[in-house]
Amino acid sequence: MYARVLGLAAALLAGCAQMAGDRVSAVERMYVINCGENHVKDVERWTPGVNKGKPWVFSNHCYLIRHTKGLMLWDTGNADRIAALPNGLTAPSGIITAFMRKPLAESLKEIGVAPADIRHFAMSHSHGDHSGNANLFTAATLYMQTTEYDAVFGAEPQKFGFAAANFEKIRGNPALKLNGEHDVFGDGAVVIKPAPGHTPGHQVLVVRLPKTGPVVLSGDMVHLTDNWNAKRAPSFNFNVEQSVRSMREIEAFMQKNGAKLWINHDREQSAGIPKAPAYVE
Ligand SMILES: [Zn+2]
Repeated sequence: MYARVLGLAAALLAGCAQMAGDRVSAVERMYVINCGENHVKDVERWTPGVNKGKPWVFSNHCYLIRHTKGLMLWDTGNADRIAALPNGLTAPSGIITAFMRKPLAESLKEIGVAPADIRHFAMSHSHGDHSGNANLFTAATLYMQTTEYDAVFGAEPQKFGFAAANFEKIRGNPALKLNGEHDVFGDGAVVIKPAPGHTPGHQVLVVRLPKTGPVVLSGDMVHLTDNWNAKRAPSFNFNVEQSVRSMREIEAFMQKNGAKLWINHDREQSAGIPKAPAYVE
Protein backbone atom coordinates (compact mmCIF):
# COMPACT_ATOMS: atom_id res chain seq x y z
CA MET A 1 0.00 0.00 0.00
CA TYR A 2 2.78 2.37 1.05
CA ALA A 3 4.71 1.51 -2.12
CA ARG A 4 1.59 2.19 -4.20
CA VAL A 5 1.11 5.62 -2.63
CA LEU A 6 4.76 6.44 -3.25
CA GLY A 7 4.43 5.29 -6.83
CA LEU A 8 1.38 7.50 -7.31
CA ALA A 9 3.20 10.50 -5.80
CA ALA A 10 6.14 9.91 -8.12
CA ALA A 11 3.82 9.74 -11.13
CA LEU A 12 2.14 13.01 -10.11
CA LEU A 13 5.49 14.71 -9.64
CA ALA A 14 6.66 13.49 -13.01
CA GLY A 15 3.46 14.90 -14.52
CA CYS A 16 4.11 18.31 -12.95
CA ALA A 17 7.70 18.35 -14.16
CA GLN A 18 6.47 17.53 -17.65
CA MET A 19 3.97 20.38 -17.58
CA ALA A 20 6.52 22.81 -16.20
CA GLY A 21 8.92 21.71 -18.90
CA ASP A 22 6.42 22.28 -21.66
CA ARG A 23 5.07 25.60 -20.47
CA VAL A 24 7.77 27.46 -18.60
CA SER A 25 11.20 26.23 -19.64
CA ALA A 26 12.02 26.66 -23.25
CA VAL A 27 14.45 28.15 -25.69
CA GLU A 28 13.04 31.39 -27.08
CA ARG A 29 15.69 32.09 -29.70
CA MET A 30 19.32 31.61 -30.65
CA TYR A 31 21.74 34.14 -32.10
CA VAL A 32 24.40 32.71 -34.42
CA ILE A 33 27.24 35.23 -34.15
CA ASN A 34 30.06 35.66 -36.66
CA CYS A 35 33.15 35.08 -34.52
CA GLY A 36 35.87 35.29 -37.14
CA GLU A 37 37.36 33.40 -40.04
CA ASN A 38 40.34 31.07 -40.30
CA HIS A 39 42.25 31.01 -43.59
CA VAL A 40 44.46 28.03 -44.36
CA LYS A 41 46.90 27.41 -47.19
CA ASP A 42 46.30 23.67 -47.46
CA VAL A 43 42.99 22.24 -46.22
CA GLU A 44 44.19 18.65 -46.60
CA ARG A 45 45.39 18.81 -43.01
CA TRP A 46 41.68 18.93 -42.07
CA THR A 47 40.46 16.56 -44.82
CA PRO A 48 43.12 13.82 -44.91
CA GLY A 49 43.36 12.15 -48.31
CA VAL A 50 41.52 14.86 -50.26
CA ASN A 51 41.92 18.53 -51.27
CA LYS A 52 45.73 18.46 -51.28
CA GLY A 53 47.23 21.95 -51.68
CA LYS A 54 43.84 23.65 -51.70
CA PRO A 55 43.48 26.94 -49.78
CA TRP A 56 40.36 27.20 -47.67
CA VAL A 57 38.37 29.60 -45.52
CA PHE A 58 36.72 28.22 -42.40
CA SER A 59 33.89 30.17 -40.81
CA ASN A 60 33.85 30.58 -37.04
CA HIS A 61 30.79 31.16 -34.87
CA CYS A 62 29.62 31.81 -31.35
CA TYR A 63 26.06 30.96 -30.28
CA LEU A 64 23.93 32.81 -27.74
CA ILE A 65 20.85 30.96 -26.55
CA ARG A 66 18.01 32.82 -24.89
CA HIS A 67 16.14 30.40 -22.65
CA THR A 68 13.27 31.54 -20.41
CA LYS A 69 15.54 30.81 -17.43
CA GLY A 70 18.59 32.69 -18.69
CA LEU A 71 21.26 33.21 -21.33
CA MET A 72 23.79 30.63 -22.39
CA LEU A 73 26.87 31.21 -24.54
CA TRP A 74 28.41 28.40 -26.57
CA ASP A 75 31.97 29.04 -27.84
CA THR A 76 33.71 32.44 -27.88
CA GLY A 77 35.48 32.53 -31.26
CA ASN A 78 38.75 34.16 -32.23
CA ALA A 79 40.13 36.72 -29.77
CA ASP A 80 38.55 40.19 -30.06
CA ARG A 81 42.01 41.83 -30.19
CA ILE A 82 42.54 40.22 -33.64
CA ALA A 83 39.90 42.65 -34.99
CA ALA A 84 42.55 45.40 -34.76
CA LEU A 85 44.88 43.51 -37.13
CA PRO A 86 43.94 44.14 -40.80
CA ASN A 87 46.08 41.20 -41.97
CA GLY A 88 44.85 38.92 -39.23
CA LEU A 89 47.02 36.88 -36.90
CA THR A 90 49.15 34.16 -38.46
CA ALA A 91 50.14 31.20 -36.28
CA PRO A 92 53.91 30.69 -35.84
CA SER A 93 53.60 27.53 -37.98
CA GLY A 94 52.28 29.72 -40.82
CA ILE A 95 49.54 27.22 -41.69
CA ILE A 96 46.63 29.29 -40.44
CA THR A 97 45.68 32.98 -40.27
CA ALA A 98 42.89 34.07 -37.95
CA PHE A 99 40.66 37.06 -38.66
CA MET A 100 38.05 38.75 -36.49
CA ARG A 101 35.79 41.10 -38.44
CA LYS A 102 33.85 42.36 -35.43
CA PRO A 103 34.68 41.80 -31.75
CA LEU A 104 32.31 39.45 -29.90
CA ALA A 105 31.83 42.12 -27.21
CA GLU A 106 30.49 44.44 -29.92
CA SER A 107 28.20 41.80 -31.43
CA LEU A 108 26.73 41.12 -27.97
CA LYS A 109 26.24 44.83 -27.36
CA GLU A 110 24.30 45.11 -30.64
CA ILE A 111 21.77 42.60 -29.32
CA GLY A 112 21.60 44.28 -25.92
CA VAL A 113 23.63 41.75 -23.94
CA ALA A 114 26.56 42.47 -21.61
CA PRO A 115 29.04 39.67 -20.82
CA ALA A 116 27.93 39.77 -17.15
CA ASP A 117 24.34 38.94 -18.23
CA ILE A 118 25.48 35.52 -19.38
CA ARG A 119 25.18 33.02 -16.53
CA HIS A 120 25.71 29.76 -18.41
CA PHE A 121 28.86 29.28 -20.43
CA ALA A 122 30.36 26.34 -22.27
CA MET A 123 32.83 25.79 -25.07
CA SER A 124 32.89 22.83 -27.40
CA HIS A 125 36.58 22.57 -26.57
CA SER A 126 39.50 24.76 -25.59
CA HIS A 127 41.44 25.56 -28.78
CA GLY A 128 42.16 29.25 -29.46
CA ASP A 129 39.45 29.73 -32.10
CA HIS A 130 36.80 28.73 -29.52
CA SER A 131 38.31 30.14 -26.33
CA GLY A 132 39.59 33.46 -27.71
CA ASN A 133 37.22 35.55 -25.57
CA ALA A 134 36.56 33.18 -22.67
CA ASN A 135 38.04 35.69 -20.20
CA LEU A 136 35.08 38.05 -20.79
CA PHE A 137 32.65 35.70 -19.07
CA THR A 138 33.74 35.80 -15.45
CA ALA A 139 30.18 35.87 -14.07
CA ALA A 140 29.07 32.61 -15.65
CA THR A 141 28.99 29.02 -14.53
CA LEU A 142 31.41 27.09 -16.70
CA TYR A 143 30.34 23.68 -18.00
CA MET A 144 33.30 21.55 -19.02
CA GLN A 145 34.02 17.83 -19.20
CA THR A 146 36.43 16.82 -16.43
CA THR A 147 38.98 15.50 -18.92
CA GLU A 148 39.04 18.89 -20.68
CA TYR A 149 39.04 20.84 -17.41
CA ASP A 150 42.04 18.91 -16.11
CA ALA A 151 43.93 19.55 -19.36
CA VAL A 152 43.11 23.29 -19.42
CA PHE A 153 43.75 24.06 -15.74
CA GLY A 154 46.41 21.41 -15.19
CA ALA A 155 50.17 21.82 -15.31
CA GLU A 156 50.67 21.53 -19.07
CA PRO A 157 47.77 22.98 -21.10
CA GLN A 158 50.16 23.63 -24.03
CA LYS A 159 50.62 19.86 -24.40
CA PHE A 160 47.00 19.73 -25.56
CA GLY A 161 47.30 22.81 -27.79
CA PHE A 162 45.58 25.08 -25.23
CA ALA A 163 46.82 28.61 -24.36
CA ALA A 164 46.69 29.12 -20.57
CA ALA A 165 46.26 32.89 -21.03
CA ASN A 166 42.84 32.32 -22.66
CA PHE A 167 41.51 30.97 -19.34
CA GLU A 168 43.32 33.18 -16.80
CA LYS A 169 40.26 35.14 -15.68
CA ILE A 170 37.78 32.26 -15.59
CA ARG A 171 39.91 29.99 -13.42
CA GLY A 172 37.82 31.06 -10.42
CA ASN A 173 34.40 30.78 -12.12
CA PRO A 174 31.85 28.45 -10.62
CA ALA A 175 32.34 25.33 -12.69
CA LEU A 176 30.43 22.16 -13.30
CA LYS A 177 32.90 19.45 -14.22
CA LEU A 178 30.99 16.99 -16.33
CA ASN A 179 31.47 13.29 -16.89
CA GLY A 180 29.03 12.90 -19.74
CA GLU A 181 25.72 14.47 -20.68
CA HIS A 182 24.30 17.53 -18.89
CA ASP A 183 20.86 19.11 -19.15
CA VAL A 184 21.64 22.82 -18.60
CA PHE A 185 18.17 24.11 -17.63
CA GLY A 186 16.72 20.81 -16.42
CA ASP A 187 14.00 20.64 -19.07
CA GLY A 188 15.77 18.96 -21.98
CA ALA A 189 15.85 22.19 -24.02
CA VAL A 190 19.64 22.69 -23.97
CA VAL A 191 21.77 19.60 -23.46
CA ILE A 192 25.55 19.21 -23.50
CA LYS A 193 26.66 15.87 -24.93
CA PRO A 194 30.19 14.50 -24.79
CA ALA A 195 31.84 13.97 -28.19
CA PRO A 196 35.52 13.40 -27.34
CA GLY A 197 38.32 12.91 -29.82
CA HIS A 198 39.24 16.29 -31.26
CA THR A 199 40.35 17.12 -27.69
CA PRO A 200 40.11 14.95 -24.54
CA GLY A 201 36.79 16.46 -23.39
CA HIS A 202 35.27 17.83 -26.58
CA GLN A 203 31.49 18.24 -26.36
CA VAL A 204 28.56 19.25 -28.58
CA LEU A 205 25.38 21.16 -27.72
CA VAL A 206 21.83 20.09 -28.49
CA VAL A 207 19.44 23.06 -28.67
CA ARG A 208 15.71 22.45 -29.08
CA LEU A 209 14.64 25.51 -31.04
CA PRO A 210 10.91 26.35 -30.85
CA LYS A 211 10.33 26.40 -34.64
CA THR A 212 13.42 24.82 -36.23
CA GLY A 213 13.44 21.83 -33.87
CA PRO A 214 16.49 20.13 -32.39
CA VAL A 215 19.86 21.32 -33.66
CA VAL A 216 23.28 19.90 -32.76
CA LEU A 217 26.05 22.53 -32.61
CA SER A 218 29.10 20.61 -33.79
CA GLY A 219 32.07 22.41 -32.30
CA ASP A 220 35.01 20.66 -33.98
CA MET A 221 33.55 17.15 -33.76
CA VAL A 222 33.56 17.71 -37.52
CA HIS A 223 34.82 20.65 -39.61
CA LEU A 224 32.98 20.19 -42.92
CA THR A 225 29.87 18.46 -44.27
CA ASP A 226 32.02 16.33 -46.57
CA ASN A 227 34.03 15.06 -43.57
CA TRP A 228 30.76 14.24 -41.81
CA ASN A 229 29.48 12.22 -44.75
CA ALA A 230 32.79 10.35 -45.02
CA LYS A 231 33.29 10.12 -41.22
CA ARG A 232 36.73 11.62 -41.80
CA ALA A 233 38.76 13.07 -38.89
CA PRO A 234 41.99 15.10 -39.04
CA SER A 235 45.13 13.19 -38.01
CA PHE A 236 46.09 15.97 -35.58
CA ASN A 237 43.05 15.22 -33.41
CA PHE A 238 43.81 14.09 -29.85
CA ASN A 239 42.34 10.68 -30.70
CA VAL A 240 41.23 9.92 -34.27
CA GLU A 241 39.41 6.63 -33.52
CA GLN A 242 37.51 8.24 -30.67
CA SER A 243 36.62 11.17 -32.98
CA VAL A 244 35.00 8.82 -35.48
CA ARG A 245 33.19 6.95 -32.71
CA SER A 246 31.80 10.24 -31.39
CA MET A 247 30.54 11.17 -34.88
CA ARG A 248 28.72 7.84 -35.16
CA GLU A 249 27.17 8.19 -31.70
CA ILE A 250 25.95 11.72 -32.38
CA GLU A 251 24.62 10.64 -35.77
CA ALA A 252 22.60 7.87 -34.11
CA PHE A 253 21.22 10.43 -31.63
CA MET A 254 20.32 12.79 -34.49
CA GLN A 255 18.49 10.10 -36.42
CA LYS A 256 16.49 9.09 -33.34
CA ASN A 257 15.56 12.71 -32.54
CA GLY A 258 15.20 14.17 -36.01
CA ALA A 259 18.01 16.65 -35.25
CA LYS A 260 19.96 18.79 -37.70
CA LEU A 261 23.74 19.31 -37.53
CA TRP A 262 25.07 22.86 -37.72
CA ILE A 263 28.80 22.72 -38.42
CA ASN A 264 30.61 25.68 -36.87
CA HIS A 265 33.49 25.87 -39.38
CA ASP A 266 31.57 24.95 -42.55
CA ARG A 267 31.29 28.30 -44.30
CA GLU A 268 29.08 27.03 -47.10
CA GLN A 269 26.53 25.44 -44.76
CA SER A 270 26.63 28.40 -42.35
CA ALA A 271 25.91 30.86 -45.17
CA GLY A 272 22.28 29.67 -45.12
CA ILE A 273 21.79 30.42 -41.42
CA PRO A 274 20.71 33.96 -40.32
CA LYS A 275 23.42 35.77 -38.33
CA ALA A 276 23.18 38.14 -35.36
CA PRO A 277 21.67 40.64 -34.83
CA ALA A 278 19.06 38.45 -36.58
CA TYR A 279 18.22 35.21 -34.79
CA VAL A 280 16.81 31.74 -35.32
CA GLU A 281 13.76 30.29 -33.56
ZN1 LIG B 1 37.83 25.14 -34.27
